[in-house]
Amino acid sequence: MRIDLHAHTTASDGTYEPAELVGMAEAAGLSVVAITDHDGTAGWSEARRALRYGHEAGVWSTIQNVVPGIEISCKIHDIGMHMLGYMFDPWNAELEAALADIRDSRTHRAEAMVGKARELGAPITWERVQEIAAGGVVGRPHVATALVEAGVVASVDDAFGPDWLGEGGRVRVDKNDMDPFRAIELIRAAGGVTVMAHPMAWRRGPVVDDKDIAAFAEAGMTGIEMNHPDHGPKERDRIRALAKDLGLLTTGSSDWHGSRKLTGLGAETTDPEVYEELVARSTGMKPF
Ligand code: AMP
Ligand code: ZN
Ligand code: FE
Ligand code: FE
Repeated sequence: MRIDLHAHTTASDGTYEPAELVGMAEAAGLSVVAITDHDGTAGWSEARRALRYGHEAGVWSTIQNVVPGIEISCKIHDIGMHMLGYMFDPWNAELEAALADIRDSRTHRAEAMVGKARELGAPITWERVQEIAAGGVVGRPHVATALVEAGVVASVDDAFGPDWLGEGGRVRVDKNDMDPFRAIELIRAAGGVTVMAHPMAWRRGPVVDDKDIAAFAEAGMTGIEMNHPDHGPKERDRIRALAKDLGLLTTGSSDWHGSRKLTGLGAETTDPEVYEELVARSTGMKPF
């Protein structure tokens, strides 16, 4: 069983549609894939439909389940971080409202980033960024694509550099990130489980202290992402030890974004026993 628990679609900043994710998971030989778009669950129903129709038509031979998930934008002590949530009830009113707030702030922020870029002479427009986001939850990668299209930078990676959208960048604008303890509580109240995403991805900027991670575990977080493209052997060893100390499950995931990032779907995977445990501990929406 090959299981990848972190993938993005056009419902946020991935480049393939939710139905295509299911096809790509089949092509990658995965048995289970999680759909974990940023701050929204709009991709779930299409992925579920694609899985079901494919099973009815007999076109899938390896993919068995799609896990409903999300990656919530959080912040603690002014450090940005991501909390994955799985198998929760998406209609939980408090959770729905909190996520709608983050999406709202993302829209205003993206528009503000376009304004700043234009002030610096970059010929990009808010209309074009909205077109690129195509109705999905808008984020920096969409602004990055617009900057590449306009010839301002050579690549999405360059757009994420310190001159533009990266740490300390001139067009960087904050969004309303959630308190991670609130994310843990909201997902738990909706019957789901939480896993801290890429906790030691130094490349992206400052990371959260071990003692904060311990507090998340204390607050009911279930797991921590260990095998991730942004973690080298040292980070993986540290996370394994920390997880053992704190009684956290460890997952492995590609954090696939389609063609916006280089990592292939299924490049990192989660142990079947860990997956079964996550399923067993959730009481919200079961895998499709
Ligand atoms: P946002 O949530 O709008 O702040 O945008 C963060 C997203 O940008 C995350 O999903 C990252 O995966 C993505 N990202 C960060 N750095 C890069 C990069 N160098 N190239 C492509 N995507 C990136
Ligand atoms: Zn992303
Ligand atoms: Fe993330
Ligand atoms: Fe992600």
